[in-house]
Amino acid sequence: MAVSNPTKERFINEVIGDELKAELQSLSALIDGDVLTDLSRRLMYATDASAYRELPLAVCRPRHENDIAELIKFAVRNKITLIPRAAGTSLAGQVVGRGLVVDISRYMTQILEVNEEENWIRVQPGVILDDMNKQLKPTGLFFSPETSTSNRCMMGGMVGNNSAGTHSIVYGTTREHTLSVRMILSDGSIVEFGPLSTDAFKEKCELKSLEGEIYRNTRDLLSDKENQASIDAEFPDPRVVRRNTGYALDELLNSPEFKGQEAKYDSFNFCRLIAGSEGTLGFMTEIKLHLDPLPSPHIALVPVHMDSVMEAIRGNLIALKHSPSAIELMDQIILDLTENNISQRKNRFFVKGHPGAILIVEFVGDTQEEIDGKISRMKADFKSAGIGYHFPVVAGSDISKVWNLRKAGLGVLGNMRGMPNRYL
Ligand SMILES: Cc1cc2nc3c(=O)[nH]c(=O)nc-3n(C[C@H](O)[C@H](O)[C@H](O)COP(=O)(O)OP(=O)(O)OC[C@H]3O[C@@H](n4cnc5c(N)ncnc54)[C@H](O)[C@@H]3O)c2cc1C
Repeated sequence: MAVSNPTKERFINEVIGDELKAELQSLSALIDGDVLTDLSRRLMYATDASAYRELPLAVCRPRHENDIAELIKFAVRNKITLIPRAAGTSLAGQVVGRGLVVDISRYMTQILEVNEEENWIRVQPGVILDDMNKQLKPTGLFFSPETSTSNRCMMGGMVGNNSAGTHSIVYGTTREHTLSVRMILSDGSIVEFGPLSTDAFKEKCELKSLEGEIYRNTRDLLSDKENQASIDAEFPDPRVVRRNTGYALDELLNSPEFKGQEAKYDSFNFCRLIAGSEGTLGFMTEIKLHLDPLPSPHIALVPVHMDSVMEAIRGNLIALKHSPSAIELMDQIILDLTENNISQRKNRFFVKGHPGAILIVEFVGDTQEEIDGKISRMKADFKSAGIGYHFPVVAGSDISKVWNLRKAGLGVLGNMRGMPNRYL
């Protein structure tokens, strides 16, 4: 017997008003890309990787920059929101909303330019991280921030979320690698945001355009001593690498215009604020990213077995003293869930018994001796602190199995049996 669910029915039956429907139909004639208004497509885009659900008015798949400019004009004219969307793997509802979802994953997927001498790449926002790094491999360069979703997440989404992962203690976040972006603003103007000398910054402030207004407002906001003091006092500790807590005004403040000689950066760059702004400030159509040299092939992992997460937290402080290139935690819940997962079982070859937590510590070095030295010193420290009971060393092709197990963590958690979904 079918059980009636009013919330579900309201969600499914949500209709677009006749006037807006006519407008949306006219939109198809204005852009070269696709405009999808049928309920099944709208339902497909009503979710991302978060628990949020919102039915968009329609889904658009722009073919190029002009399409996006048209979509922005349309949204302003009709007072609706635009939601830029890349792969849709966001965890906090970033690409879910009631406006127009603009999916750049279909057509805006080109690598535009690679400069091996200056270590940068220019891409459209729909380029997938792993694909990009695969293409870069022969150059000996790569884009270093990564996510567990690297086989599908896209560069627009990485900048939008200021993504970072396992190696952030060495390479930092996407923000530090975003050199410039080409962006369409709310008035349809196309702007390049990138590094500016103090003179260039002043010139931008003189522009009689939305771009000029943005620079002037930022200058006024960040020159105010009270604002400076509260940003310095209230923003999270900058030593915490992975800290996305709203617009990164603290990073903009750290420019010579406002901090003089004490500034962390030698130029002003709006990209530091755009990274992590979650599609709320403008629509990126091109992104120029800094590349790093590929790491040394000498790599080893030590998945330190512990009795509890608390022990792993204390162990983390010990591991950090030995200059690891990455540290990740797997708790007992994730370990237990992967035990019953057919595709993950083979990746658990290094797990002994039933640890309360595993701290995976990665070392990269110029020689094997360097790595071996780091590992034995770390083990000795762990043992004298009474932390950890099993210290296997994983090398070669087995390394990817360990990371795959770690990457599967959130996915297996998401598939845990829980409350039934009320909407779909
Ligand atoms: C299992 C799992 C593991 C994850 N692990 C990590 C992790 O290790 N580290 C991490 O940082 N994140 C992680 N995430 C979150 C997410 O995968 C990343 O943040 C990823 O980089 C988002 O990329 P995406 O292409 O899916 O972007 P989307 O989710 O599509 O978009 C992300 C944001 O960027 C904006 N955006 C996209 N394109 C544009 C554009 N052209 N112009 C303006 N704004 C734009 C969107 O509006 C949105 O706000 C994980 C998610 C899952 C489901």
